[in-house]
Amino acid sequence: MADYRAMWEDLGMDLDTHDQLCAVLPDAFGDTYLTQGNRPDNMAFYDFVVSEIHGVRPAELIELQKAGGKVFGTFCVFVPDEVVIACGGAVTGLCGGSQFWVPEGEKVLPSGICPLIKASLGAHFGKTCPYFSVADIYVGETTCDGKKKAYEILGADKETYVMDVPQMKREKDIVAWADEIAAFARKVEEVTGNELTPENLAAAIRTVNEKRRALARVFEARKANPAPISGKDTLLMTQIAFFDDPVRCAEMANKLADELEERVARGEGAAPAGTKRILVTGTPLAIPNWKLHHIIETSSAVVVCEEMCTGTRYFENLVDEGADTLEGQFRALSERYMKNNCACFTPNPGRIADVVRMAKEYQVDGVIDANLKFCTLYDVEKPALADALAEEGIPCLGLETDYADNDAEQLRTRIGAFVEMLGA
Ligand code: SF4
Ligand code: SF4
Repeated sequence: MADYRAMWEDLGMDLDTHDQLCAVLPDAFGDTYLTQGNRPDNMAFYDFVVSEIHGVRPAELIELQKAGGKVFGTFCVFVPDEVVIACGGAVTGLCGGSQFWVPEGEKVLPSGICPLIKASLGAHFGKTCPYFSVADIYVGETTCDGKKKAYEILGADKETYVMDVPQMKREKDIVAWADEIAAFARKVEEVTGNELTPENLAAAIRTVNEKRRALARVFEARKANPAPISGKDTLLMTQIAFFDDPVRCAEMANKLADELEERVARGEGAAPAGTKRILVTGTPLAIPNWKLHHIIETSSAVVVCEEMCTGTRYFENLVDEGADTLEGQFRALSERYMKNNCACFTPNPGRIADVVRMAKEYQVDGVIDANLKFCTLYDVEKPALADALAEEGIPCLGLETDYADNDAEQLRTRIGAFVEMLGA
């Protein structure tokens, strides 16, 4: 990695602790990713991004700030990037996916909180993530109790704007979310100093839709048997999409999709034909959480789909591009975002229907439904999902894990037995 120490120092980061993080990441990435065989050539871009993960993109965001732009840090796929992009701002995803940040988070949070929240607060308060440091403002949302309350703690240290996500999907909830997007738009105008217009919002809607289409092409290719790309590589592409520039993200995902489509035409797979195909669903897998995929894909199976926010929910459903007033565009945004089947909704039959549908579309042999420890929302949905899959004759393994490695062998044993059972 190039030398970014002066930049990190200017960002007020804790350089000594950050050095410890930088020291372990290359080995973790090398062991997990570079040991794979027959990777698509276009994964070279994503490998490069990881090698410079705390350098290149933060430097771009700082350049944007020097030109007067603002950076919005977000924690959930409900926050409409389109509004920020329309006003000349940049969005960066901030969910923490590493155990490295958890102990720092535990200093300000009770222990019975999911590791994603702990890691996110740990990255902020420990000053060891340039994306947290560079953000001008955080944007939270009321999706789960842990996050709601964590934003109060974050907000005491950096401005944090919280969007009120409805908990049901009635017409009045879609109206309420459109109103919430309108209120967020006023905040974005205030922070950026730029006016939101139907024209710049229409352009931003097209930009983000293009990104969604490109990511969808990569996933579409995974429906082929043999799968042309590993689950680990696709997960990396998705994780990077959360903080990359949206136009470049679409361009690189389209290049990857071109290559995958050629592989599919040749019948070439990342794993041998006959490898058991797994759909993973549950809580999001924030970068650099590759633990589950790595264990699955070193247990004679390949992950062909992620029904989760770091997966299909990030790109499924386009925003209708036909509206030409802000009011109409807020409604179109609301309709698209409210199709997300997060477990924060009650009831949430859409997620179960999605998993069953995708299990068929991606020709999977089994489903792994994994939630992070202390994530009540996804944990409670497990039995209903398992029952629905059983009715369709689709095997399902429910797991609970966190970011630490101490359950890795136990997970390997359970996943290995599950994959073996699929072959029986
Ligand atoms: S799982 Fe729910 S709370 Fe988490 S990112 Fe997705 S929509 Fe947001
Ligand atoms: S994993 Fe569950 S508990 Fe953690 S932030 Fe997401 S919804 Fe909340």
